[in-house]
Formats: sequence, structure tokens, C-alpha cells
Amino acid sequence: MKQQAPKGTQDLLPEVTLNWQYVERTFEDLCKLYGYEEIRIPTFEHSEVFQRGVGETTDVVQKEMYTFEDKGGRSLTLRPEGTAGVVRAYVENGMGSKTSPQRLFYVITAFRYENVQKGRYREFHQMGVEAFGAKGPHIDAEVLAMLDHYFEELGLKDYALHINSIGCPNCRAQYREALLAYLRPKKDQLCQDCQNRMEENPLRVLDCKEKSCQDVTKDAPLILDYLDEECKDHFDTLKGLLDDMGISYKVDPRIVRGLDYYTKTVFEFVSENVGTQGTICGGGRYDGLVEALGGPSTPGIGFAMGEERLLMELEAQGLVKPHSLETTLYIANLNDAAHTEAQALAQALRRRGISVQYDLMDRSLRAQMKYAGKNNMDYILVLGEDELARGKVMLRSLVDRDKEEVEVGLHDIDTLAEILAED
Ligand code: ATP
Ligand code: MG
Repeated sequence: MKQQAPKGTQDLLPEVTLNWQYVERTFEDLCKLYGYEEIRIPTFEHSEVFQRGVGETTDVVQKEMYTFEDKGGRSLTLRPEGTAGVVRAYVENGMGSKTSPQRLFYVITAFRYENVQKGRYREFHQMGVEAFGAKGPHIDAEVLAMLDHYFEELGLKDYALHINSIGCPNCRAQYREALLAYLRPKKDQLCQDCQNRMEENPLRVLDCKEKSCQDVTKDAPLILDYLDEECKDHFDTLKGLLDDMGISYKVDPRIVRGLDYYTKTVFEFVSENVGTQGTICGGGRYDGLVEALGGPSTPGIGFAMGEERLLMELEAQGLVKPHSLETTLYIANLNDAAHTEAQALAQALRRRGISVQYDLMDRSLRAQMKYAGKNNMDYILVLGEDELARGKVMLRSLVDRDKEEVEVGLHDIDTLAEILAED
């Protein structure tokens, strides 16, 4: 029986993987410019890492995790995001004892049991950064500047940066009461999940995707009005720093973000083109998370960008070009001896960094020429009885048909490599 990929997963075929490499390389290069080093974390963790790190009352933990018991009876979960695993690794490996700030980046797959739709998959890809140890607003500004720089590098337009502050546990205690006082009389209009989690974590109601909940919270009190002195200063300074750098933003007091661990600054980069899923990238500060996962109290900030959504956006703006593999040289070979020679020549040239292909299908010369023409080869040389006997080959350009053929010694790898490396 023909098998199908599971719902919400995708095969990325060669026509598109070059685009993926492009956005990932651009990201990795930029990370290095800003002092971020790569971390690679496991695909699955003990479920507790996410229950504690993402938060028991979040949609991610309550509804979206791929949790399973392994043969040893452990509860494991496929990572639904990167931050909790990175923080677990940071704590476990004592990375806090190195100089601060510690800047880490990652490129991962993530797994969530979601309602599959445009821009929303069950296996998806995220690129993200985490910076540990710096508590002032300068690093917040730097992280946002880095993202802005990244989008600029990709040529992206029509995106907006939305920021908010959700304060610290100190501000939230008061806000929680105000929000609960507002929500309690309307409780029966909320979805069942929100009714259940409201008392424990009323902020989650603000992030609920259900329309009924969104209607209820339209006029809810705003956390921005409840920030304490320190959190307010932090936010005001951040806005000033963004202004200084010429980075435009909109304060959106309704952003609370889907994960429980955020404190103070939260942000999203949104766009019109990513279907109903307008958020390409989300992030924020999480000053309590390292401690929540058993480490010393350590401030942190990071973001995660959805690669599927980023690529959809780039495509919508005409910024991804159709890529195809380009090969420098094609060696047409006409008999067994020529085939063996072609293989040796190809290996010698590949060792010099030149991409080479030769016939492996026993095609006729005509068919080999056609293949080379169709597959973006820059040069072709034909190896037959005559060429082998003379020890010389004719190198012909397939890009510039008027260019004269050049005769080169079959074993003169230096000259061949030199000509082929020219363009
Ligand atoms: P949303 O509100 O769209 O559900 P989220 O708040 O759950 O997003 P985050 O946990 O902040 O998303 O993840 C960061 C980014 O990862 C998102 O901005 C998005 O680009 C991407 N992302 C999240 N879930 C998915 C998914 N199921 N499929 C594809 N991309 C996703
Ligand atoms: Mg989500």
C-alpha cells in the first residue's frame, strides 16, 4: 500500500530546500555577527521540562504536545518549541558559570498537535536565539535590532513589530486580581478551557484563540496600566532605544504570548500575508525561567521564528527565486574505457572544488548532450575513442555558445580546473 506522510507534516523537496538553506544560512551568519553560538538540543525531553518550562495552563501543554511513554516507562515529549530545552541544557551543563551574556542560537524542528491549516503544521521549523545573563533593556533592544536586520537582509517589507510588557510577578499579582474581577462575572461566556484555567492563570484567557474569549476580553484591564516602577522604566527605556535606532514598532497591550514564562518585554513580528497566522516570529524576556528549571536566578530573552511562515512571507513578496542545482562540467562518455576515465577525471576535478557530472545511464551522445543542456551545466567535454587515443579533450561552453572550444590535455587537471573555475 502507498504510504502517506502524517497529517501536518511536509516533505521538503530539492526545489525548495535551497530556499530553506538560504534563510538558515543568512540567519546563522547574522547570529555570528551578534555573538551567538549554535546549540543543538534533543528532539525530545522529559515531559516535565515543558510542563514547567512552557507552563501547565498553556494551550501548548494542555492541548498540543506529542507526549508518549517509552519502553522504560518514562514520560517523554517531542519538543513543541526550543526555549525550554535550551534552558534545561543551560542549567544542566552549568553554562551560567561561563562569562555572561551567554548567547545561543538554534535551528530546530518542533512538534505540536494542532489544527492543521495554512501556516500551521504539526511538525514545523523554528530558528531562534536565547541570551542569558543580561537584565537591562539594552539586550532587548539588541535582539529586536537583530531581527530587524535579518528581515532587512532578506529584503522583507510590510511587516510590523508589536511590543508589550507583561511585567514581573510583582506587577502581575495586582493585575491578576483586576483581571479576575473583570472576568468572573463573564465566566460563562468563556470557552471550557478558559473556564477551567481562569482562576489559576487568568492571563491565558487573553491569549485564547476562541472567538468567544476574544470577545469577552476586548475591554479587559491592560497589564500596561499595572506595571511597577522597575518594569515601567525597563519598557520606557526599551522604547527609547528602539526610537534611537530608527526601529519602528507599535505597542500592542494585548500581546501576552502563548508560553507562561515571559516577563517584561514581549514582542511579535506580524505580517498580512501569512494567512490567519500572521505571526512570523515571537519572543520576549523570561527572567524566571532558568530558576523554574532548577538553575540560579538568571535573566534571559529570546525569540523563535517559524521558518514555514517566514518562507510563505518571502514567497508572497516575490523574494525567493526559483533555485536549481548548477553544475560546472558535464563529461559525456561513449564507451566503457571513457566511462572509467570520466570517473577519474570527475574525482580529480571535484577535489579541486569543481562540480562535475558524467553519464551513468549509458545514454547515446545525443541524449547526453540533451541532458547536459537541460540541467544547467556550464561546460561539456566529450570522451570517446578518439579523445582517449589522443589524450586531449575539447572543452565547450554551454552558457556562451559563441565561445570557442578549447583543447586541453586529458590529464592536465591544472589547466582544466583553471578554466572551469573562471566563471
Ligand atoms: P500562534 O499564535 O500562531 O499559535 P504561537 O504563539 O503558538 O503562535 P510560538 O510558540 O511563539 O507560536 O512560536 C514561535 C513561532 O513559531 C510562531 O510565531 C510561528 O511563526 C511558528 N509556529 C508556531 N506554531 C506553529 C505551527 N504549528 N506551524 C508552523 N509554525 C508555527
Ligand atoms: Mg500556537
